[in-house]
Amino acid sequence: MAESTPNTATIDCNLLVAKALARAGVTHMFGVVGIPVTSLATRAVTLGIRFIAFHNEQSAGYAASAYGYLTGRPGVLLTVSGPGCVHGLAGLSNAAVNCWPTVMISGSCDQNDVGKGDFQELDQIAAVKPFVKFSVKAKDINEIPNCVFSVLDHAGSGRPGGCYLDIPSDVLHQTLTELEANKLLDDAEKNRCIESVKSVSNDVIAKAISAIRKAERPLIVFGKGAAIARAENEIKDLVEKTGIPFLPTPMGKGLLPDTHELAATAARSLAIGKCDVAIVVGARLNWLLHFGEPPKWSKDVKFILIDVDEGEIELRKPYLGLVGDAKKVLKVLNKEIKDDPFCLGRTHPWIEAITTKVKENVSRMEGQLAKEVVPFNFLTPMRIIRDAIIGLGTPAPILVSEGANTMDVGRSVLVQTEPRTRLDAGTWGTMGVGLGYCIAAAVASPDRLVVAVEGDSGFGFSAMEVETLVRYQLPVVVIVFNNGGVYGGDRRNPEDITGPYKDDPAPTSFVPGAAYHLLIEAFGGKGYLVGTPDELKSALTESFSARKPAVINVTIDPYAGAESGRMQHKN
Ligand code: ADP
Repeated sequence: MAESTPNTATIDCNLLVAKALARAGVTHMFGVVGIPVTSLATRAVTLGIRFIAFHNEQSAGYAASAYGYLTGRPGVLLTVSGPGCVHGLAGLSNAAVNCWPTVMISGSCDQNDVGKGDFQELDQIAAVKPFVKFSVKAKDINEIPNCVFSVLDHAGSGRPGGCYLDIPSDVLHQTLTELEANKLLDDAEKNRCIESVKSVSNDVIAKAISAIRKAERPLIVFGKGAAIARAENEIKDLVEKTGIPFLPTPMGKGLLPDTHELAATAARSLAIGKCDVAIVVGARLNWLLHFGEPPKWSKDVKFILIDVDEGEIELRKPYLGLVGDAKKVLKVLNKEIKDDPFCLGRTHPWIEAITTKVKENVSRMEGQLAKEVVPFNFLTPMRIIRDAIIGLGTPAPILVSEGANTMDVGRSVLVQTEPRTRLDAGTWGTMGVGLGYCIAAAVASPDRLVVAVEGDSGFGFSAMEVETLVRYQLPVVVIVFNNGGVYGGDRRNPEDITGPYKDDPAPTSFVPGAAYHLLIEAFGGKGYLVGTPDELKSALTESFSARKPAVINVTIDPYAGAESGRMQHKN
């Protein structure tokens, strides 16, 4: 802390780190304090940075990564050394795989004691290596401003991702004068370096437009990259000017409303199976998009990929690659199309085929959803939740979803109408993200309610963080689909139930009827136990209007879901 007069006053490294973070525009941090970083968190708070203190670095890391995605600015995770850093790797790796801007800062052991078995000693730079774009160890207080700006800049520019800053405890204890600190901050700010992204050539734009114009069955696909680029207006322009149907990836949902007349989500198999040109904006042709390969896609489909990362385009070898920020590239495309417009129109055979299929599938699904099944299957409560969410209007809540059946069914039934309002298990299928994501969403978008629809297994990974919800009084309603286990009831064949531990519960099962709603009540939050449509409706009405932390424990028939949800072929 400052002593004597400004300029010659001494400040410690904790304050210098906080100053650098504040100077770089960081407004929130997530983490778990302890040796040697407690003062760092306290100093950050004194400078107006909100520090959200978690129980576990894993959840705090997931929160930081989701915060990065929702705001487009790196989410910052603070951890202690050794095991704290290892727990934080969950968040850092999740950020890397999802391409979300995230910075982990960990304290580490005293540099003079490395190799001697110091308290929580670990080679943390080596540990983070597989999961970061960039990492650096600050070996001296003078390096701090440069290091802080570098990790933030690398995380947020080019293809976003995870970065790591290691600060040994002896460095955290170093001091300098305020005058020296300000000079270091000024100099480091001048040296900031944002990764440059190539801009797409006119030639490639012209080729793309020609392919789109000639296409008989074009499709626009967009994903998290388009969401992070905040390209929703440009996508809307492209879709509406050309009349091309669109398909969002799970987290692309909401960039255009699911209810849009050109949404092909309910005709997904037809759209991807028959399209001849697919313009893919900020989405990788990975497992979520069936690798862009037959049999799901036609073997002759021409992919036009728009991605900020040149390496992604080199990897997929599409018909055409447009490297650049999605918003900027789409702006150029839209401008060129506007100069010589075309539009497929409702009577175009491709549009008719898609809209007919959408109507058929929606009406079949609505028939299923209309049934009042008690004990609850997945569809009946999901429909009630969908209607309650739609009833909230705008600003729409941010939806957090994880679990096998719960997430699969929720993705088809719940409706997204606004950009960046869906967070789910993502590219890595990460379970355990739930409460971290809820907390990130609540602090990143304080005007929105957050609604989590979670399987009981997914919820269990981070359930202790309901205390964090209550402590910060965040407007989060967590709905737990409680079917008593991973995938629900015991589905083993009788011949598999043998051996000395055959009387143990099945590996997939939890305590039946677990009272998850009481967990939040232990901390002063509101819990509900529901098993009928009326009970669920009443709990939703009350908790949505209260905008206070709540858990709704929904009793689901343990045999309602399928093992592994829609991924059974991989189990
Ligand atoms: P989804 O899960 O929605 O399919 P992915 O995470 O697979 O999306 O893909 C996101 C892609 O978006 C990544 O390849 C990433 O490089 C890219 N990306 C990230 N930011 C931008 C941006 N600003 N503009 C264009 N592409 C981006």
